Amino acid sequence: MVSSVVVRAPSSTANLGPGFDVFGLALDAFYDEIRLEKSDHGIKIQSSDTIPLVPEKNSAGLVVKEMTKKFKIKSGVVLKIKKGVPAGFGMGSSAASAAAAAVAFDALFELNIDSNTLVKFAGIGERASAGSIHYDNVAASTLGGFVIVRTDPFNVIKIEPPKELVLCIAIPNLDIPMKKTQISRSVLPNEIKLSDSIRNLSNAAAIVAGFMKKDVEMIGTSIKDIIVEPARQHLIPGFSQVKKNALYAGALGVTISGAGPSIIAFTSKSSNPKKICSAMEKGFMSAKVKCNTIICRPSNGAIVV
Ligand code: ADP
Repeated sequence: MVSSVVVRAPSSTANLGPGFDVFGLALDAFYDEIRLEKSDHGIKIQSSDTIPLVPEKNSAGLVVKEMTKKFKIKSGVVLKIKKGVPAGFGMGSSAASAAAAAVAFDALFELNIDSNTLVKFAGIGERASAGSIHYDNVAASTLGGFVIVRTDPFNVIKIEPPKELVLCIAIPNLDIPMKKTQISRSVLPNEIKLSDSIRNLSNAAAIVAGFMKKDVEMIGTSIKDIIVEPARQHLIPGFSQVKKNALYAGALGVTISGAGPSIIAFTSKSSNPKKICSAMEKGFMSAKVKCNTIICRPSNGAIVV
């Protein structure tokens, strides 16, 4: 009988421009590691990172609580969380913990849960951080690759990304406001023009086609969003310069990673990712903001280690 399980789950980027709340991509940039151990009773979280330790307020704790209830598990659980994904930068930090917790719980209690249901449980964890359930980051972090979250009926569709796809991410050194996700949602328009919706939909459809055809250029050049990005970009100092510089340095497409403030550039192996990163750094410097950059590839998702 299994008494403990360790799972690593990756960072992720949500939206990919026009796919707001629908698209996600797992990123081989940072990982959270969670060890779940059976105990006598109750749910306890241990971590030396600055995250909430109360189960209901921690994305992983909330997942374990819900799964314990749903599967009528009698045993208690201890969660040991090692954060690798920086929290609040638009890289799916709470989602990585939630995904790792769902996959670890499934393995620990030998439940054999199907992938859609695993994502549903992981999504519950987002209530602890974002205040509402959303599945784009958790789906990517759990299953890996590029994911499309269909909500009605609920279904997560995974597509294997092309091997040539490379991502350059600039993570600005900014203070993250409390309730960042709620703030970045509050600036979004309540209504949109039909013509804007058509333009975004055409780009979103081309992104899916690009992943299906393994065509990096089609993916990258379709990362264009005229609805969410214009409403949010003022929250990121230097955004337009970072984007302009990255495109000039050869990026195919550039957008806000999730709710920001990180900015992600899509490019191919044959471009010069280092040049794109230094162009993004200069863009942030124009607004007197320092940033860290990282070059990465898509990840295969959460794994038991
Ligand atoms: P991002 O996707 O930008 O990383 P998140 O949705 O992960 O943002 O939100 C980060 C917030 O979630 C932080 O304020 C943090 O306190 C809270 N949070 C709750 N549980 C966790 C967790 N296990 N890991 C990281 N952040 C968590």
